[in-house]
Amino acid sequence: MIADRISSLADQVIAGIPLDREQAEWLVSHADDACLLDLFRGATRVREHFLGRRVRCCSIVASKVGRCSEDCAFCSQSAHHQTHVAGLTVLTSQQVIEAAREASANGADSFGIVNSGLGPTDAEVEQWGAVVEQIRRQTPVRVCASLGVLSEAQARRLAEFGVQRYNHNLQTSRRHFPRIISTHSYDDRLATLRHVQSAGISVCSGALFGMGESWADRLDLAFELRDLNPDVVPLNFLIAIEGTPLAETEPLQTMECLKIVSLYRFLLPGKEIRIAGGRETHLRDLQSWIFLAGADSFLIGNYLTTCGRAADADRQMVRDLGLELVEPPVPRRVAQQA
Ligand code: SF4
Repeated sequence: MIADRISSLADQVIAGIPLDREQAEWLVSHADDACLLDLFRGATRVREHFLGRRVRCCSIVASKVGRCSEDCAFCSQSAHHQTHVAGLTVLTSQQVIEAAREASANGADSFGIVNSGLGPTDAEVEQWGAVVEQIRRQTPVRVCASLGVLSEAQARRLAEFGVQRYNHNLQTSRRHFPRIISTHSYDDRLATLRHVQSAGISVCSGALFGMGESWADRLDLAFELRDLNPDVVPLNFLIAIEGTPLAETEPLQTMECLKIVSLYRFLLPGKEIRIAGGRETHLRDLQSWIFLAGADSFLIGNYLTTCGRAADADRQMVRDLGLELVEPPVPRRVAQQA
């Protein structure tokens, strides 16, 4: 029976034996609508085995928005597309520090500074590095950065400033990537992630689904991520934005999004799987099902250029499910000031 096979694959993952490609493909083709609840049950067992009932949440701020040289087909900030994002907006250091305080007050254990653009100049690394130092002094949140493609020296410099985690999504499979982005390569992204790892910074790298990719592409990316071994894997679902080349793309169905989450839990069992952009739009009333499907982490507050729902409602959702929201540890400097 299909339910029994799904359950035995969950047992295998729990026993520490990773699924191979053939088993992953079997799950994709057999866990159809009639068996999705069996898939979710298996994913929940895997999540609880590796991560218990803990849930983490993070928050981001778009510190530099727009006028990007890159042509990412999904992105409203690309100068190649005519979208609602006009011109360049850069927040002040104080505005970003304020956003970090607010994220911390909302229960986020991590806070990410996100810039548009291919990658930072050395001057920007110094500028945002100084902001990171201030946030670490003034709040207990883990400080993350997402500044694009980095050189080895820039990654080392960010580590010196105290950046604890770096986000740089692979977005899709190597095969599908050139249909989405032509101004930089998959290997540019992988090189950045390796520089970040060598600098001793925790890696956050994941995907954007719903860009016309196949299930084979989704599995390719999951296996690529397994090799890369990031700490956090954010999963985003495309919100098609007017003026971008993907504006007319059919949205993913809710159950397909949840099936993706479960597949990623089976394939990346001990990782923090974070549901990020597109949660409200694609999952609607079923947002709490992300945990049933195997996620253990989610983004709260606003996204880069779209708004999320109130953080209170998200915290309540976690409590209602009987899950435990992980609060950031209070660092000594903050505790002493309290
Ligand atoms: S995703 Fe980043 S690099 Fe790509 S167009 Fe948007 S801001 Fe630029």
